[in-house]
Amino acid sequence: MTGREGDELRDDDAFRDWDAAYVLGALDPEDRRAFEAHLRHCASCRAAVAELAGMPGLLRMVSPDDAAALGTTAGAEAEVVELASVARAAHRSRRRRMAGLVAAAAALLVVGGVAGSFVDRQPGHPRQPCPRAPPR
Ligand SMILES: [Zn+2]
Repeated sequence: MTGREGDELRDDDAFRDWDAAYVLGALDPEDRRAFEAHLRHCASCRAAVAELAGMPGLLRMVSPDDAAALGTTAGAEAEVVELASVARAAHRSRRRRMAGLVAAAAALLVVGGVAGSFVDRQPGHPRQPCPRAPPR
């Protein structure tokens, strides 16, 4: 039994799935204040937030060019908005854990890239591995 301290307590914790949404800035102001008040006396949620603290930084490491290379036309800003939407959805369902959120975010990047390719081109056109703007 070497799980994270307080894991059993977190099962009964109404805030236990708010960590990722909080870290990604997806909580509305009222929920954010409630969660921050909860963090003051909940060590397990503080630990969960600390574990996720690097996630926005990691996501920011994806440059706009890399995001565009995934096939999206809107670039990195759209990815951030979509990730916030995913986090909000996870927060509302209160069933998803970090792994689910990260998997959803990764799937979103891939699906967004594929969808972007199909939106840009005719349906059924072969997808190019790394679309680039033609030189001018
Ligand atoms: Zn808590």
